[in-house]
Amino acid sequence: MKLAASLNRLGTESAFSVLAEAKKLEAAGNPMIHLGLGQPDFKTPKHVVEAAKKALDDGHHGYVLSNGILECRQAVTRWIKKRYNTEVDAERIIIMPGGKPTMHYAIQCFGEPGAEIIHPTPAFPIYEFMINYTGSTAVPYDLTEDKDLRFSADKILSLITDKTRLLILINPNNPTGSFVEKSEIDKLAEGLKKHPHVTILSDEIYSRQIFDGKEMPTLFNYPELRDRLIVLEGWSKAYSMTGWRLGWSFWPEQLVEHINKLLINSVSCVNAAAQFAGIAALDGPDDSINQMMEKFIQRRKLIHEGLNSLPGVECSLPGGAFYAFPKVIGTGMDGSEFCKRAMHEAGVAIVPGTAFGKTSKDYVRFSFAASQDNISNALENIKKMLG
Ligand code: PMP
Repeated sequence: MKLAASLNRLGTESAFSVLAEAKKLEAAGNPMIHLGLGQPDFKTPKHVVEAAKKALDDGHHGYVLSNGILECRQAVTRWIKKRYNTEVDAERIIIMPGGKPTMHYAIQCFGEPGAEIIHPTPAFPIYEFMINYTGSTAVPYDLTEDKDLRFSADKILSLITDKTRLLILINPNNPTGSFVEKSEIDKLAEGLKKHPHVTILSDEIYSRQIFDGKEMPTLFNYPELRDRLIVLEGWSKAYSMTGWRLGWSFWPEQLVEHINKLLINSVSCVNAAAQFAGIAALDGPDDSINQMMEKFIQRRKLIHEGLNSLPGVECSLPGGAFYAFPKVIGTGMDGSEFCKRAMHEAGVAIVPGTAFGKTSKDYVRFSFAASQDNISNALENIKKMLG
């Protein structure tokens, strides 16, 4: 077989490899605590599941519009109005099979040899892989330790050149759990006014998981950027719907027809019943989100204090999402060795920092989307492992 060279430029998500290895060890009788995958450990709210069942009973079995059923897109616009007090046109909302396809399609719209795409590191790895896949140049900006792994507007603005086509922002960030507040985003938005050739892709998938009562600094706040703004959002994290494969995104008017074409040429449309579930989630009560957040607040405290009490481990306080990203090099091990020993000796599945970028080899990612008992036991086991 003669395969396309571009295939070799695609990487994979290590959290899934960690899961596969952990499951193998489990099957061989070794107990395992899973703090690897980034998905809430709660059930999808009942009223959301009921809406999908009803949609199937009502006969929503067929193809629907490629950009999503109108009712679902309108539910998204109502949600945007309710949360961010701004009106958007439902024609600029596209329902996607998960959050990921938005990054895939957005990068496909801009990526080609000669084009530069600015992205954070460490970050959700798919961004860098997709940039490389298209043959464009990945221009990383570091989430630096001196800023508690938050990004800096000045640093990002300094990387923009004539060749920059797309700027990727992820806030709150995976894997660092870092959260950048509105004042810094204001500064960035102001600077971006001087670079009208740059489109912004703002990954806001963790917008409902922000701690300390802080406001989500959505890019919807800047109407002057809206004709070159893509917002990636979805149901996966907020409503514990990772397996439903349902997401939505907002697009510049000019891109809508291209994204529709990409959808028609790949998936046709998103599962109709899932879209009805999505409407119920957005229009329904926020009780499940509030209950989930109460748990995440307790877990964040537990894991943050627990990690910092381990010899040689330093962890900044996550401001959003459900990840802790400690530096473990003080234990005498880099992130990869730490993870290997955690899995084999402590029975704890976590992900090495290098899964999210070359610069984070001294780090590991703990997902705290797990019960307090599991988090406490994992910390106890790792403490024993460190002797
Ligand atoms: N963006 C970020 C930052 C993520 O962490 C993830 C999932 N881990 C996604 C997007 C993709 O979400 P989905 O599972 O809905 O495709």
